[in-house]
Amino acid sequence: AELYGVRHWGAGYFDLSAEGDATVTVDIEGRSIAVPIIDIVQGMQERGLEMPCVLRVENLLDYRIQQLNEAFSRAIRQSEYQNHYRGVFPIKVNQQCHVIEEIADFGQNYHHGLEAGSKAELIIALSQLRDTESLIICNGYKDAEFIELGLYARQMGVRCFFVLETPTELPIIIERSQALGIEPLIGVRLRLSTTVDGHWQEDSGDRSIFGLSTSALLDVVEKLKAHNMLHCLQMLHSHLGSQIPNIRNVRTGVAEACRFYSGLVSEGAPMGYLDLGGGLAVDYEGSSSNSTHSMNYQLDEYCVNIVETVRDTLDEMDIAHPVLVSESGRATVAYSSMLLFNILDVRDHKPRKLPEQLPDDCPDVLKNLFSVLGTVTSQNFQECYNDALYYRDEVREMFHRGHATLRDRALAENINLAILGQIAALLPSISRVPSELENLPELLSDIYYGNFSLFQSLPDVWAIDQLLPIMPVHRLDEKPTRDAIIADITCDCDGKIDNFALPDGHSKTIPLHPMKDDEEYYLGVFLVGAYQETLGDLHNLFGDTNVVSVKINADASFDFQREFEGDSISDVLSYVEYSPNTVQEQLRKKAEAAVRQGKISVAMRKQMLKAFRDSLQGYTYFER
Ligand code: PLP
Repeated sequence: AELYGVRHWGAGYFDLSAEGDATVTVDIEGRSIAVPIIDIVQGMQERGLEMPCVLRVENLLDYRIQQLNEAFSRAIRQSEYQNHYRGVFPIKVNQQCHVIEEIADFGQNYHHGLEAGSKAELIIALSQLRDTESLIICNGYKDAEFIELGLYARQMGVRCFFVLETPTELPIIIERSQALGIEPLIGVRLRLSTTVDGHWQEDSGDRSIFGLSTSALLDVVEKLKAHNMLHCLQMLHSHLGSQIPNIRNVRTGVAEACRFYSGLVSEGAPMGYLDLGGGLAVDYEGSSSNSTHSMNYQLDEYCVNIVETVRDTLDEMDIAHPVLVSESGRATVAYSSMLLFNILDVRDHKPRKLPEQLPDDCPDVLKNLFSVLGTVTSQNFQECYNDALYYRDEVREMFHRGHATLRDRALAENINLAILGQIAALLPSISRVPSELENLPELLSDIYYGNFSLFQSLPDVWAIDQLLPIMPVHRLDEKPTRDAIIADITCDCDGKIDNFALPDGHSKTIPLHPMKDDEEYYLGVFLVGAYQETLGDLHNLFGDTNVVSVKINADASFDFQREFEGDSISDVLSYVEYSPNTVQEQLRKKAEAAVRQGKISVAMRKQMLKAFRDSLQGYTYFER
């Protein structure tokens, strides 16, 4: 298990069974129920749902909402904080209908609301939320239409806040609310000077592109006063950035936000809500540290830090405790989804079988290369490395000049690979590895070709070097004997994963099992529920994957709650403005012309057109 670190990053939701299968574990009425993921894969197959597939576990989605709300409630109780918590889920983090429906449905228990950053997201929020205690927080740039939608929501009794991102939104809010005679609820997003560690550093600090400066905030106060609307200003909002790895940053940011909150109270605004945005991190690498892909705190500690900092800072100024709001997206949904795919092929860098002896008439340089083989020791490995590369390059040079044959060159490459393999095998026992040899294991690693598109399913791996936990979902009782990088099936050299979080630290390769002739090999990329699905793109026209949502029952059975077929070829063609009917007609004309020219028979034409039609309706990924 510790080979892949699942007990570190799995947070208790993922583990291994005694049979060597990866399991997903859910809590049902206080009991831990573990289900082998490979059993769910089997169920998918029986239903005709091919790989790649996103597997969503509804229980985990519900459980994370429960944990977040209960952790805040506990912190509030323990700290004797005099108000309550209201969470909102930022729709942008996973807009998929069934995710939002489930959050809205289960979230009712905690009045968990939604955050919208656009008109489309506000319409989703309005249509999905069932409970008027829950909040809708409108962030982002808002035009008059956006504001009207929010005002109508207010009229229906929804607690819908407009959070001002820029001063220019305020005149529109004032004008529209006065024209419609509906009072808005207004929040202000502040640009805090606190900066955070991690990838989203630029979302915080003076140069953040979001939020109001202190002087812009005062202009807003003046304008609201002038329009007799200061009583609408009830929320202070701040967001320091996503995936904050260091708890100290959270505490500093919250304390600063409280100062602004109290400033607004002094200005006469009623206030009542303090929204601290997102940022609660996910420990993707399982190192419990303040590195970018990890976090040096737990959920309870996060909540206690926020609650106590707000309590202490405001108590000092004798200001009533506000409703605490947070917009955790990543931490709410990341665990609930995994990407599953099969391995299609492996390219290894093992040398082919070498002859016992070289023929007498082969070039001397090949003989020299061959003589290095078998002499590698921990004393002379650097010299052997230098010699091997020198002689290999000599043979390449001779080949360029026509003085060595194709077979000579193949033999040289093979002998060289064998020598490098011998050196690589020695490296772990060598205390100080020369820098030029550090990458040797990576250069000799296999390439496992996975049936997925990095650009469609794991865009952050490509765009921001996001580290995600990856492991096979079966055969975990066998020692993985190959070291590999993983390539996708786009023909793009960026379509590869060569950075893995393993228990010993980051590694450019991952240990995997050798393929078996008669068995599929399945890998899972875990913790992909946040941001990956809609940020993905259509590179090489690989479309949305199949998606399956399961609910695990108390007897460890599972129900396929929802199944969504991924895009067909016809779907992806229409996304880039082709008409599938026209394409079909163009193919028909081509086939008809081929019949006329005697290139194909009419029967062949029928067969070909059926293949085109089936293909248009089919999956964009590799089908067995
Ligand atoms: N709220 C706002 C305003 C955001 O911009 C974001 C994302 O960066 C979030 C909430 C969600 O943050 P996270 O996914 O870190 O919880």
